[in-house]
Formats: sequence, C-alpha cells, structure tokens
Amino acid sequence: MSKISTAALQLPAGLAALEAQLAQDLEFLELPAKPWVPTRTHGGVEVRDVVVIGAGMCGLAATAKLVLTGISNVVAYDAAPAGLEGPWVTFARMQTLRSPKNLHGPALGLPQLTFRAWFTSQWGGEAWQALDKIPKRQWMDYLVWYRKVLNLPVRNGVRMTGLSTNNGLIAVDIDGAEKGRVLTRHLVLATGRSGLGGFAVPDFLTGIDRKYWAHSADDIDFEALKGKQVAVIGAGASSMDNAATALEAGAGAVDMLIRRKEMPRINKMTGIGSQGVVHGMHLLPDAWKWKFVEYTASTQTPPPRSSTLRVSCHRNARFFLDCGIIAVREDDGALVIETTQGPMRYDFLIAATGFSNDFTGRPEFASIAPHIRSWADGRYTPNMGPPRSGMSEAPDLGPAFEFRERVTGSCPVLAHIHCFNDAAMLTHGKVSGDIPAVSAGADRLVRGIAASLFAEDVEEHFANLTAYDTPELQGDEWVDSTPLLQKETAL
Ligand SMILES: Cc1cc2nc3c(=O)[nH]c(=O)nc-3n(C[C@H](O)[C@H](O)[C@H](O)COP(=O)(O)OP(=O)(O)OC[C@H]3O[C@@H](n4cnc5c(N)ncnc54)[C@H](O)[C@@H]3O)c2cc1C
Repeated sequence: MSKISTAALQLPAGLAALEAQLAQDLEFLELPAKPWVPTRTHGGVEVRDVVVIGAGMCGLAATAKLVLTGISNVVAYDAAPAGLEGPWVTFARMQTLRSPKNLHGPALGLPQLTFRAWFTSQWGGEAWQALDKIPKRQWMDYLVWYRKVLNLPVRNGVRMTGLSTNNGLIAVDIDGAEKGRVLTRHLVLATGRSGLGGFAVPDFLTGIDRKYWAHSADDIDFEALKGKQVAVIGAGASSMDNAATALEAGAGAVDMLIRRKEMPRINKMTGIGSQGVVHGMHLLPDAWKWKFVEYTASTQTPPPRSSTLRVSCHRNARFFLDCGIIAVREDDGALVIETTQGPMRYDFLIAATGFSNDFTGRPEFASIAPHIRSWADGRYTPNMGPPRSGMSEAPDLGPAFEFRERVTGSCPVLAHIHCFNDAAMLTHGKVSGDIPAVSAGADRLVRGIAASLFAEDVEEHFANLTAYDTPELQGDEWVDSTPLLQKETAL
C-alpha cells in the first residue's frame, strides 16, 4: 500500500475533538472488553488480578492493554509524583527525545492515541511537519494525557517496598501515599531502566566521597558546578546530555573521558529496525539472541548528533578518546583521575555508565532475587559468542516476560511475576523499554497474563459454560416434521 501524506492538511481540531474521536473508536472496537476475570478474595481481602509497579511509559502501556482486554481489577503504583514518572523531566538532560518523532510508542494500535494525533490536534499538520524531534517535556505531557484520557488506575507517591507469597498469591508491600500489603494474582514490574538493579558504577569509584561524583541519573546540582573542572565518563547519549547541561550551567571546563579509540558512529539496531525484529527476535534460538545483543553492545549506540554538537559548540569542552580510567583518588579537595593518558585533576566527575541488572542489590526484590534464573544459569553457553557482563545477569524469562526459577519448585510464584522492563531485552528483544515497540511488548505481556488467568480459572469458566442457560432459540422457530415423515412411511 502506498502512503498518502495528509500531514499538511490537518488543522488543529483541539484536544476535545481528538478525545471524542478516540472515545468513538473505542466504542466501535467494543473496548474496553467486558471484564471476564472472576473476582477473588482471600481472608475477606480483595485480591487484584494484576498489580503493575511503575507508571512510566511501559507501566502505562501495560495497564492500558490490561484494561482494554477486560482485565479490569488492576492498579498501577508509582513512587514518583504524578507527571514526574520516568526520566523525561527529571534526569533526562537532553532537550528532545533521541528517537524520531513518528514512532507509535504506547498507542496500542489506536491512531487517536499516538503522539502525532495528540500533537496535530493542538498545533496542526504544518507544525507537525516542521517539528524535528519531540521536546522531552512535550513527551511527558503526552504521557500525562494518555493516562488521563484512558482513565488509567494509577496511584502516585506509592513505592513497592517488598514482596512475599501468601497461598499462591503475591503480597506486595507498599509505602507512601498508600501503605500496607496488597494481594495480587500477577505482578508486572515496569520499573524502568534501572528496573531490577540500579546504577552501574565502575569499581574505581568505590569508596570515593559522593561530594566528588554523581551518576548521570542522579539529581545533580548543576549550578554548583559553575566555574568547576568537570569530567564526564562515557560516550553515550547520557554523557553528552550531562556534559551539555554542565556547560550550559557555566562549568569552567568539561572533559569527556572516553575509553574507546573512536566514537561509536552508527546506530546499528535502529538501522535494521522492522516489524520482523519486533516480532521475530524473541522466537530466535538463544545463540542468535546473544549474537544480536552482544554485537550491538560491542559496537555501541552513538549519542545523537545534536546532543554531541550541544557539547562541542562550547569552547571549554574537550573530547579525550582512548582515555581509559585506571584509578580515581581524592586529593586536597579535588579528584585525581589516573588515565591511560596520564593523571588529570577535576573538581567533579559524572559517571554516565548506565544501569545494571543486579537485582540482588534492591531491597524490594530481596525475597525473590536468589530464586530468579538468569542467562548465566545455563541459558548462555560459550559457543553462543563471547561472554559479556551485563548480559549474562539478564533474567531468563518465559514467553509472557515471567521469571523462571533457578531451582524448580523453589519459588513457584515467579511464574506470576513479569519483568516488563529493560532487563527483558536479551530474552524478548527491545519491546519493554524503548518507545518504538512498547505496544508490541504490552500486547505480548497481556496475552500471556490473560491466558494464565483463564487457565487458572478454567474450572470456573467451565462451570459458567455448563450453567449458562440463556436460550438463543425459543422453540417457536421451527415445526417438528417427524410425525409427518412417520405418516408418509406408514402409507
Ligand atoms: C535519559 C534517558 C533518555 C531516553 N530517551 C529515549 C528516547 O529518546 N527514545 C526512546 O525510545 N527511549 C529513550 N529512553 C529509553 C526508554 O524509553 C525510557 O527509559 C523509558 O522511560 C522507559 O519506560 P519505562 O516505563 O520502562 O521506565 P520509566 O519511564 O523509568 O518508568 C519506571 C517507573 O517505575 C517507577 N518505580 C521504579 N521502582 C519502583 C518501586 N519500587 N515502586 C514504585 N514505583 C517504582 C519509577 O518511579 C518510574 O516512574 C531513554 C532513557 C533514559 C534513561
């Protein structure tokens, strides 16, 4: 089918018109589907069908898909205040999204739910064409609208602090704006990039006073860096965003300390992005999954050109390539960084070193962490390709993003805990972290949860089948011709 561009023709009809259209589309599609999961209580306490932890983009998409699928006894909790979920207006220090504007994101196949529909309804088609990349604040505004227009059951300011099991159910400890213990049949961990682990911090920073350094996702006081000598480690997008923010805040000088001999320049996985990758990657043999992810990790994703220019346009920014860090020490109110190019002295260091899958380090996962099977537990074998830390710790997930047990029978509830975050990438491909394929990920997740809920309640569904007695036929639609036939054969 050839594409017809109508962008320029679209006049801003306003958000109210878009919302009315969306409501009509949902009605045409009979969505949300009618609730079908039997109500459960335990000891007189209501049991949720699904609790979602995290109401960032993945948590919202998962919650929306659950509700649209008729799994309505659902709640999503997020530790952040409403409108501050995820990185977008907190530690994401880029000006615009890194990805192109035309991705469908969490729209779940509904055209009126796309960012583009939201944008053009307010500013029109010409403005859409003129837009380069989406300003990050606008992306957050869109996510806030997405949640509002779908009336999603999200509770903010509520942190999951612990997990336990109770008669085959999952008991989720919550704290903050709501406190206590919530029982649920399934739990979705949409906890983001630091999902199951936390910041990845290089060993050379162990023991260094935190007043001298921060991780790129920390809440950094950039004003305090005015006039200071700052080092940024890393060559990825976040290193550029943090360096640029420091420079714009008046840092005296910012040095990018980059271990590689050359900057990564080609965004490989984006280059081969297709529906084949989205739907095919998770069904590939493990060796192929490893090969794709290992190759992408070794070639690295380059920072966007605009983010790099945002740094290099400052005369007091310097790029040091082939500059590995050997050691870091405090010295008379400053940091001395021993590098492969010699010692360098700074007031502050920003480690843009990414995130880890080390779920043993997070107190809220303490009860399940020892039981979670990872790729290191036999799924990875050396004939698949070179080992790579950061990959082998990835959880070995089932088809609905559910954890698997390290030892069979040791923690059966894991089959009901779904890892819908970045840590799922090695098993599932990039469908539970980045914008491009989050709808496909939510679809895969919810199909699995729906199937599991249905199978667990199969006796009740069968009883409903046998008990169902609303007649389609009233008995007056036909006349029994048997007596007539008998009369004819008797003649
Ligand atoms: C700086 C940055 C920029 C990015 N830019 C892009 C981009 O341009 N394009 C792109 O495709 N991808 C981008 N990504 C990748 C990805 O799209 C984002 O990380 C996105 O936010 C992922 O959505 P999420 O829902 O998985 O996680 P998040 O948006 O991080 O949401 C997770 C939520 O879980 C909550 N949470 C965590 N633990 C708990 C707990 N115990 N209890 C309650 N709540 C909890 C957090 O408060 C948070 O709101 C970027 C990532 C980062 C870090």
